[in-house]
Amino acid sequence: MRTGAHGRRRFLGLAAAALVAPLLPRPARAQAGARIVVVGGGFAGATCARSLRRADPGLDVTLVEPNPTFTACPFSNAVLAGLRDLRDQRFGYQALVAEGIRVVHAAATAVDPRGRQVRLADGTALPYERLVVAPGIDFRWEAIPGYGEAAAQQMPHAWKAGEQTLLLRRQLEAMPDGGLVVMAVPANPYRCPPGPYERASLIAHYLKTTKPRSKLLVLDAKDSFSKQPLFTAAWGQLYPGLLEWVPLSHGGRVIAVDPATHTVSTDFERYRAAVANIIPPQRAGRIAEAAGVADRTGWCPINPVTFESRLQPNIHVLGDAALAGAMPKSAFAANAQAKVCAAAVLTLLRGGTPPDPVLVNTCYSLVAPDYAISVAGVYRPKAGQLADVEGAGGTSPLQAPQEVRSLEARYAEAWFRTITDDVFG
Ligand SMILES: Cc1cc2nc3c(=O)[nH]c(=O)nc-3n(C[C@H](O)[C@H](O)[C@H](O)COP(=O)(O)OP(=O)(O)OC[C@H]3O[C@@H](n4cnc5c(N)ncnc54)[C@H](O)[C@@H]3O)c2cc1C
Repeated sequence: MRTGAHGRRRFLGLAAAALVAPLLPRPARAQAGARIVVVGGGFAGATCARSLRRADPGLDVTLVEPNPTFTACPFSNAVLAGLRDLRDQRFGYQALVAEGIRVVHAAATAVDPRGRQVRLADGTALPYERLVVAPGIDFRWEAIPGYGEAAAQQMPHAWKAGEQTLLLRRQLEAMPDGGLVVMAVPANPYRCPPGPYERASLIAHYLKTTKPRSKLLVLDAKDSFSKQPLFTAAWGQLYPGLLEWVPLSHGGRVIAVDPATHTVSTDFERYRAAVANIIPPQRAGRIAEAAGVADRTGWCPINPVTFESRLQPNIHVLGDAALAGAMPKSAFAANAQAKVCAAAVLTLLRGGTPPDPVLVNTCYSLVAPDYAISVAGVYRPKAGQLADVEGAGGTSPLQAPQEVRSLEARYAEAWFRTITDDVFG
């Protein structure tokens, strides 16, 4: 994309300017110094800020992110299993600053869409021509009775990587052999559809190798899930008798928890867990609601060509916060959406019409350290949504030799290195 925009300018400048320039309705550069504010420095926001600034160094790009260091969720399940250090999940913003992006470490607390201003926690107001909102997810604390922010200190969600990941890891380490680990998995939509099942697999791996008399119970609020045949086959092969998945129709939905007694209740049973990992239902990061871009679902409807909000003009929404049709909430998707959005914002600032994009997503899941499976999808706008391009995606084969699983585990690591380098490196 960067090469394309740059190449286009060179072409116009060197070869055909005399012929073409009189026909151009506007200059090929965006409004000089146009102010773009990006809220959220994760996979979506940091990618978007970087893509904008690289495509047009004349833009005034500000990235608003409270944390000086970003902690990535992909591969954080490997940290839980003791296969990886949390330090390998952490990334700074120095490279973005070096590229001329103004990085402000503060939380955005309000947005005035009419006055086109973002307000920060310290009271500062940031004016914009275009705003990009990419705050990831927040939790619906009220959704499971008994489960709130305080309960998460006893029964970690570990669905935002960082302290919660370390807390759950410490609890698993401290648990005696023979303990019951309970996971609660929400209904769709939520961040990273295959993530809970990768987590179940890697916790099972940890138990099998260090506490083999223990048991893992996965209580699910749905009856089917991403890459299910592949996960189920792998669990039967690697973790028989250790990992049990309970679907919605068999009483899998968690209806209440009691952190004081570590009790997890479903419609039919009450379980006393040695370790309970509760992944609660989710919604777009809170600032989305404050900006008026979240609808009643708690997520943000967008135009699939530009990622502009359907509810507020001049505000774009990316990543987990967006309702992106068939596209899952993943880091890969967030990164891809951010590039499409950056190109669209530039085109709009130049007075043009953004073309229909094609987006791609791949999600790897580790089932054991040397065993991974994947799903890929291709998406394009259709009837106002991002829709699957039929026949263009799929999963790893169900029947495959171990060397294929092993290769996919290596691809997964290479994917993580590449994407984090693309965003933060
Ligand atoms: C266990 C687990 C495993 C996963 N594995 C994979 C995987 O293998 N592959 C994959 O593609 N995806 C994976 N994901 C999903 C991936 O982490 C998310 O989809 C991705 O992080 C979404 O990017 P985002 O930019 O929308 O949100 P985030 O990456 O969460 O970034 C949001 C940022 O916004 C900031 N923010 C929030 N509110 C404000 C505010 N008010 N003001 C300023 N800043 C704010 C936050 O601090 C944060 O830095 C996994 C997720 C989990 C939980």
